[in-house]
Amino acid sequence: MEVALIPPPPPMQPQTVYPQPMQFKDIDNLDQAVCKQAMIDYAAESCCLDSNAAKEMTITRNNGLTAYHYILETFTESRKTECKRKPHHGGSVDGSENGSAPSPWDVLCNADKIFHNHTKKMKIPHTEYIRPCNNCIGRGYIQCPECHGNGQKDCSCSKWQRNRESEMLLGSNVNHACPWCKDTGFLKCNKCSSSGRAICTECNGCRNMKTYTELTVKFINHVRDYIFQRSDMPDQLVKNVSGKVVFEQDLDQVFPITTHPIKEINNNSKRIINEHKHAFPYERIKRQRQRLLAVPVTEVHFTWKDTRSRYWIYGMERKVYAPDFPQKCCSCCAIL
Ligand SMILES: [Zn+2]
Ligand SMILES: [Zn+2]
Ligand SMILES: [Zn+2]
Repeated sequence: MEVALIPPPPPMQPQTVYPQPMQFKDIDNLDQAVCKQAMIDYAAESCCLDSNAAKEMTITRNNGLTAYHYILETFTESRKTECKRKPHHGGSVDGSENGSAPSPWDVLCNADKIFHNHTKKMKIPHTEYIRPCNNCIGRGYIQCPECHGNGQKDCSCSKWQRNRESEMLLGSNVNHACPWCKDTGFLKCNKCSSSGRAICTECNGCRNMKTYTELTVKFINHVRDYIFQRSDMPDQLVKNVSGKVVFEQDLDQVFPITTHPIKEINNNSKRIINEHKHAFPYERIKRQRQRLLAVPVTEVHFTWKDTRSRYWIYGMERKVYAPDFPQKCCSCCAIL
């Protein structure tokens, strides 16, 4: 089957909508009581951390260091055509006599859900035509594969014959006819009831095939992101927690963020939007959405007995990252 991926036509006209001035919300810092409680809860859940240390520690300092998670989604569609065949059982045929077939990009096909990957298939109007089946040359049947069209098969009694001959040599004169073929040497073909024919597997006996062009529309949501994070905690952690949406834009084509007080965010928004602009030559960009999430990260300095160290609370979920927090000796650590 011939499959063709069709590049989209160039965009009709440049976008004329201009964005509202970009405004960014802010998020609150955590106070010390919340920082301590987060650690107590975390230590209680973990079998290896010392819950007493969490209760007894003294927080000496806590810094709110907002991290940012920038996400660009580019929702595109690609279109490919494929020549399909199926048995023609009769009925109407939507061929070129009904009008000329639209080009693949002119076929109306809307996404079921924007910013979600999914695929839709449909028949392109006016592309149907009927042809005699190639497999059976329009007869509807083919040679029986079991008996090769003979309606009968050779009996495997040559061995029987040999045994019989040797018996006769030994002086036995009992007449042993072959019990299967009665010495005719042939057996009826059960597969085709001796007709020698089998229903064509391609057209199912219909003799004709309906050929048409099938359109496959693939909706794809391409996601790229960027993390801006100043604490000593690994950046990757910020990706997997939720934050507060401080800026959101949903347009046919989004505009790069240019007025955020943090220059790196502006630069990376511009870089990622630019990358997506040229990344999908065989896809049409349908919609874009960009979001900037402020993810609260609090660096907490604490003392406990002789220990003086830090831990971090991050995300709206208030997850804790505490690689240096006092451990207690427990059985699971001892086994490790
Ligand atoms: Zn047969
Ligand atoms: Zn036989
Ligand atoms: Zn056929």
